[in-house]
Amino acid sequence: MPAYDRNNIFARILRGELPSKKVYEDEFVLAFHDIYPKASVHVLVIPKGEYVSITDFSTSAPPDMIAGFWRAVVKIAKDLGVEDGYRIASHVGAKGGQIVFHFHVHIIGGNRT
Ligand code: 5GP
Repeated sequence: MPAYDRNNIFARILRGELPSKKVYEDEFVLAFHDIYPKASVHVLVIPKGEYVSITDFSTSAPPDMIAGFWRAVVKIAKDLGVEDGYRIASHVGAKGGQIVFHFHVHIIGGNRT
């Protein structure tokens, strides 16, 4: 697993240094629209902490953060109106297609674009 890079794109979005189309924020997460949506609903949810991937997050994050993160994912899907059917994806490592090395999940629903 690579070391966490504090200048990755999502870290910079979290610090407000780069813009994003925010859909939700609480003490645990920030959620915003993917810049290249693959469906009519395509939102990224990131934790407010320095975690490279789901591997890092699930082993290093405190329990309240892990619970808060997944509860927020489900709430966001509901708020987006896709509760009856959506996908959650998280790429792990370069071999798994991960491009941004700040843990995130994709919420993908609605019609494919
Ligand atoms: P992944 O690491 O999950 O394989 O890919 C990163 C995802 O982040 C891609 O779906 C890509 O479209 C999205 N993405 C990359 N850069 C930005 C950005 O600057 N802003 C937003 N909103 N999404 C981005």
